[in-house]
Amino acid sequence: MEAPEPGPKRKAGAARGAAGKGKPPRTGAERVGEEEKGGGRSRIGVPAFAKGILEQPVEEVRGIGPHLAALLAKKGISHAGHVLYNLPRGYQDRRLVGTIQQLLPGQKGLTVGEVVEGREIFNPRSRKKMLRVVLADHTGRLALTFFHYWPSTMKRFVPGRRFFAWGDVKLFGTQKQIVHPELEEVDDLDAGGESLSAGRIVAVYRGMDEVGQGRYRALARAIVDEHLGLVPEILPEALRRERALPTEQQALQSLHFPAQGADADALAAGASPAHRRLAYEELLLLSIGLALKARGVQVEPGHRFDTSPPRIEQALAALPFEPTGAQRRAIDAIAADMALPSPMNRLLQGDVGSGKTAVALVACLLAVQDGRQAALMAPTELLAEQHHRSFTALLEGKGIEVALLATGRGQKALGQARERVASGAARIAIGTHALVSQGSAFRELGLVIIDEQHRFGVEQRADLIGKGLRPDVLVMTATPIPRTLSLVVHGELTQTVIDELPPGRKPVGTKVFTAKTREKVYQQVERQLGEGRQVYVVYPLIEESERSELEDATQGLAKLSERFPGRRLALIHGQMKSEERDQVMAAFREGSIDLLVSTTVIEVGVDVPNAAVMVVEHAERFGLSQLHQLRGRVGRGAARSFCFLIDHGSEGRARDRLAVMERTNDGFEIAAADLEIRGPGEFLGTRQAGLPELDFADLSRDARLLEQARADAFALVRSDPHLSRPEHRLLKKEVFERFAERMSLAQVG
Ligand code: ADP
Ligand code: MG
Repeated sequence: MEAPEPGPKRKAGAARGAAGKGKPPRTGAERVGEEEKGGGRSRIGVPAFAKGILEQPVEEVRGIGPHLAALLAKKGISHAGHVLYNLPRGYQDRRLVGTIQQLLPGQKGLTVGEVVEGREIFNPRSRKKMLRVVLADHTGRLALTFFHYWPSTMKRFVPGRRFFAWGDVKLFGTQKQIVHPELEEVDDLDAGGESLSAGRIVAVYRGMDEVGQGRYRALARAIVDEHLGLVPEILPEALRRERALPTEQQALQSLHFPAQGADADALAAGASPAHRRLAYEELLLLSIGLALKARGVQVEPGHRFDTSPPRIEQALAALPFEPTGAQRRAIDAIAADMALPSPMNRLLQGDVGSGKTAVALVACLLAVQDGRQAALMAPTELLAEQHHRSFTALLEGKGIEVALLATGRGQKALGQARERVASGAARIAIGTHALVSQGSAFRELGLVIIDEQHRFGVEQRADLIGKGLRPDVLVMTATPIPRTLSLVVHGELTQTVIDELPPGRKPVGTKVFTAKTREKVYQQVERQLGEGRQVYVVYPLIEESERSELEDATQGLAKLSERFPGRRLALIHGQMKSEERDQVMAAFREGSIDLLVSTTVIEVGVDVPNAAVMVVEHAERFGLSQLHQLRGRVGRGAARSFCFLIDHGSEGRARDRLAVMERTNDGFEIAAADLEIRGPGEFLGTRQAGLPELDFADLSRDARLLEQARADAFALVRSDPHLSRPEHRLLKKEVFERFAERMSLAQVG
C-alpha cells in the first residue's frame, strides 16, 4: 500500500535520520487528505536530551495490544519518545461539525449522525460483499460504504449508536455517501467529552493507514498526557524568551493537539509558533556546531598582517583595471581579516567572471608585501597553470617570483619549483591541493587561497599546523549557492559575496534545442566561426565511466569535422597528458583552433576571450549551476556570445529546469531555482558531504530563522566557548551527539 517517500532523497544515517519528518505540505490543509503517498520513514529522531527519559514501551499503554504494537514497530514507533517526536505530516481543520444537509459533494466533510441501518450487501460490480451503513440526523441521510472491513467493524454499527464521520463526500445517485470514512463513536468519548477527531483541528500522521489515524491519535493522546511533562527544555530561558518561542513541551503539545483557536493555515504550512520553535532549535544546534568549529580555528594565534590603506593601494596597483565596488568590498573585508591576530577563515563567493582572480591576486600581494609567502590552490592542474600564467603576466617586472607546482611539467621542474618555494625565493606558489599536503614546505607561508569548491579540510589545516604554520585561509567558489544553504554548508566560514560583474559584460544569449533541431545550432556556429569567433562543444559524462564520456566526445569530434570542413577542430579531455592538454589549450587560446570539443574538463575557470559560443550536448544531464559554469566560459570578450543547450529528451520538470538558463544569466538566481527544483542534496551533488540533515527547518522557508539562530549561536559560543554554563549543558550534549563526528568538533572544540 505504501510507496516510498516522494521528493528529494535524503541521506540516511545522520544524527537525526527520519526522512521528511515534520515537513508538512506547504500548501493547503487538504494535501494531507491524500493519505499514504509518503510513509517510507525509517527512523524517528528523538533528541539525545530526551533519551532515557521517554523509553516506556508503547505496549504498556492501555489499549495497545501485541498486534497494534507490531504495526507501530514497523513504523519505527516502539516507545513514548517516538510517539512524541513523530510529528504530524499535516492537519485537517475539523472544527466545524456540519449537519448532513450541509455536507457538500466533492469536498471533505465532517458530520455526526445516528446509525439507522448497517448491513452487508452484495456488490454486483466487484462480485464481493461490501458493508453499507446509513447515518441520519434531523436534516437527512448519509451512506457510509466499506469495501474492506473487519468483521468487528460490522458489529459497531448497531442502530441507535452515534458516530462522527469524516471523509470525501460524494454523490451516489441522489444519496450522499462517504467511502471508508474516518469514524469516532460519540459514546467512546472520555469523561470530559473530548473528541479526538471532531470539533477540532486534527493532526494527521504519516504511514498510519494500517494502524488507523483514529487509533494512532488515541495513542498520541495517552502518551502526551503521561509523558510530555518529562520532556526537558533545551533552550536557555533567556534566549527562548527573547525569540518569543514556546517551550519544547508547549510546542509538542500544540503540534499533536492544536488548541481550538490555533491558526490552521499556519499549522498546515509548517509555520506555526510550534514549528518555528523546533526549526529554530535545530538551526541553533547546527549553528553552535559551526561556531565551535570556527572558533577552534580562530583560537590558534596567526600572523597579524599589515594591511593598512597604503599597503592595499600598493597591491591594487598591480591590477590592469579599477576594481569593481564589489571587488573592493571583498578586498577590504579580506584585508581586515588578515590584520587580525586570529587566522582568517573566509569564503569568497562570486559568479563566474565576477573577478575573483583579481581579488586573490591582491590578497596574495598583501601577504607578500608583509614578508610572507602565499599559496593558491586550484582544483586541476589546467587551472593552476592558467592562474600561474595570469599571475606571472600581471606581476611582470615587479620582482615577485611565482612558482608553479605541477606534476605535468615533469619531476625535475617540480623539484626545482619546490626548492624555490622552500628557500623562500618564490613568494607565491600555485598548484593543486598537493601543494600543501605533499610536503612542499614553505619558508614563510602566511596565506592559503583555495580556488573553486575545494573545501579546506580540518586535516589539511592540521597538516599545516603540524608544520608550524597557521596561515590565513580564503576559500573562493564560483558556484553561487543561496545564502541559507551556504550558511549551513560553509557555516564555519565568514562569507563575502561579489555581487557585481566587471563593466561591459553582456549576458550570454542562451537557447535550448533538441537533437532534432541541432542543425539550427550548427548554422549559428557556422556564422560565428565565419566571423572569426571560436567555439566550445562540450560532452558530459554519459555513462558512469570516463571512457564512454571520451568515446562520445571522440565521435562528436568526427561528426563535427564532417559538418565543418576546413575548420580546425581539436579534442581535449581529462585523460590526456597534461603537456598535450597544454598544447591544445595554448593553440585554442592563440586562435589556431576554431572549435574545441571537450569533456567537462573545461568546466571551471578557463579563460579564452575570443570564444563566443558554447554548445552543450546532453544538457539535461547537468545541474543548472554546472551549466552556468560552462556558460561562463564564453562572454569573456567584447563579442556577443551564445550558449546552446541541446536537450536529448527531457520532459516536465527537467525541461522547465533548462528554461531557467534561457531566462537569466544571474548565477545566484539560477542557484536558487536549482535548489528549489532539486532540493539541497542533489543541488550540492557530490559536495553534499557538508549538508546536515534538517528535519524541521526548511532552507527555502526559514531564512530569517536561520540568521537569528546563527547570530544567537555565535554569540553564545563567544560568551561561553566550552558551553560549560549549567543552562548550556543540554545544548552541549545535543550538539556533540549530532555533529561531533561530521564536524570534527573533537579536534577543534
Ligand atoms: P572569476 O574567476 O570570478 O570567474 P576572473 O577573475 O576570471 O573571474 O575575471 C573574469 C574576467 O574579468 C577576466 O578577464 C578579468 O581580467 C576581468 N576583470 C576582472 N575584474 C575586472 C574589473 N574590475 N574591471 C575589468 N575587468 C575585470
Ligand atoms: Mg577564476
